[in-house]
Amino acid sequence: MRKKLVAGNWKMFGSLAENAALLDAVRAGAPAGGGVEAAVCVPFPYLAQVQQSLSGTAVTWGAQNLSEFAKGAYTGEVSGAMLRDFGCRYAIVGHSERRTLYGEDSDLVARKARAALDTGLVPIVCVGETLAEREGGVTERVVGEQLDAAMGVLGADGVSRCVIAYEPVWAIGTGLTATPEQAQAVHAFIRERVAKLDAKVASNLLILYGGSVKANNAATLFAMADIDGGLIGGASLVAADFLAICAAGAR
Ligand code: PEP
Repeated sequence: MRKKLVAGNWKMFGSLAENAALLDAVRAGAPAGGGVEAAVCVPFPYLAQVQQSLSGTAVTWGAQNLSEFAKGAYTGEVSGAMLRDFGCRYAIVGHSERRTLYGEDSDLVARKARAALDTGLVPIVCVGETLAEREGGVTERVVGEQLDAAMGVLGADGVSRCVIAYEPVWAIGTGLTATPEQAQAVHAFIRERVAKLDAKVASNLLILYGGSVKANNAATLFAMADIDGGLIGGASLVAADFLAICAAGAR
């Protein structure tokens, strides 16, 4: 039985004061142990605050990006080892906003996932199709290629230490959510694709759904056989909503 993971992606939101209130509420209300892990992936400057607030609790944390390099003259970049210094467990890689706004391709995403693994982080590798791709009937081709790029670089051992997030681009921040059946179909496709690499890795792999998950739709999404939790954007900034989504994962 795979334990569920509900990971918040704060994106570029927050302030020291806003975060303090949110973290207090998450710390107080997050499920301790049981069938779900709650995590928050926050902007780099707030990692120290999050580490201080969540250390010793069941809530884990991470970043939203990292460099593909270990160290060097890469102005503005942040390495996996630096994230580990702040107690991070996770690093999101290949979020669609990074792919589209910052030109990150699947090859770079795979190298970032490798860099995360090399420093002891768990990469949350995002994949997903645009609306045009879904309407064009090429969802599986697009998601399959994104996945293959990661599998090619990471191999079965690397993939066994990743989390995959299926995030249809058309559902992120739009209020449009994939139906549980639409999401389940792509999750099953992802698991089958990974099974071609290694069946055991596939059956243990956590595959999160992301895209306008809210308190009122999380339970039906998380009830699907291959959906192992969620990557939560907007709703992770509202403590009551995020905690309700975590609770849906615990059912
Ligand atoms: C995300 O940022 O990964 C995301 C899924 O955002 P939202 O929940 O706001 O759609």
